[in-house]
Amino acid sequence: MLEIKNLHVKLEEEDKQILKGVDLTVETGKVHAIMGPNGSGKSTLSYVLSGRDGYEVTEGEAVMDGVDLLDLEPEERAAAGLFLAFQYPVEIPGVGNMTFLRTAVNAQRKARGLEEMSAADFLKEIRAKAKTLKIDAEMLKRPVNVGFSGGEKKRNEILQMAMLEPKMCILDETDSGLDVDAMKLVSEGVNALRNEGRSFLVITHYQRLLDHIKPDVVHIMADGRIVKTGGPELALEVENNGYGDILTEVA
Ligand code: ADP
Ligand code: MG
Ligand code: MG
Repeated sequence: MLEIKNLHVKLEEEDKQILKGVDLTVETGKVHAIMGPNGSGKSTLSYVLSGRDGYEVTEGEAVMDGVDLLDLEPEERAAAGLFLAFQYPVEIPGVGNMTFLRTAVNAQRKARGLEEMSAADFLKEIRAKAKTLKIDAEMLKRPVNVGFSGGEKKRNEILQMAMLEPKMCILDETDSGLDVDAMKLVSEGVNALRNEGRSFLVITHYQRLLDHIKPDVVHIMADGRIVKTGGPELALEVENNGYGDILTEVA
């Protein structure tokens, strides 16, 4: 599904190398987690995959289903089935949540050669999906994320994901700022989207999210590289001992 090879990325404005040779393969239908200390490059990896400005790829590739994502515009990546749930969801004043989602869904469908969804079908689908995420109708009418609590913003990200039906979902610290109940809702939302044709890359600081979203593979990222890969037990090791032992071992 996604194969990242020797990815090197620096800041465009500064001579600062952030990713220093990331190698990572996420198979179709699998959930991979990336853990790692603050500043190790986890968010940068997700931004670069989704096509955010400000970064320069100096080496390497990121191939999704045979296409190098790095050659595509951000909207083309989304149309190809990539979705990023932000660590810090953006507020968009003046744009209604429902309008935003409908526009995104129809743009996506157009890019995939499908007809627009009728207003009635869209309403039916969004209401059903919002309900499972405990997002009320009022939140759908408000401007995107404006005045939403941290938990509401994260749930709204999962709603976007559910509506867009991506093939490859990247969640960047979706658990940060969530209380236990909100984390459970978000996790249930993600688990409901798991299927054999869809892959996930779940970036998190803490093992507790991985109690709810059980990963197939866990990677540790440090200083711009994946330094260790293992099963779910790796996340428990981090929980119990921190990153110190692993970093010493790989050094
Ligand atoms: P993580 O998500 O693992 O905490 P980040 O990808 O956010 O790490 O950051 C990796 C490193 O790159 C950090 O040292 C961070 O300060 C730096 N960095 C990322 N983006 C920028 C930027 N736009 N300007 C300056 N430094 C940046
Ligand atoms: Mg961070
Ligand atoms: Mg981050």
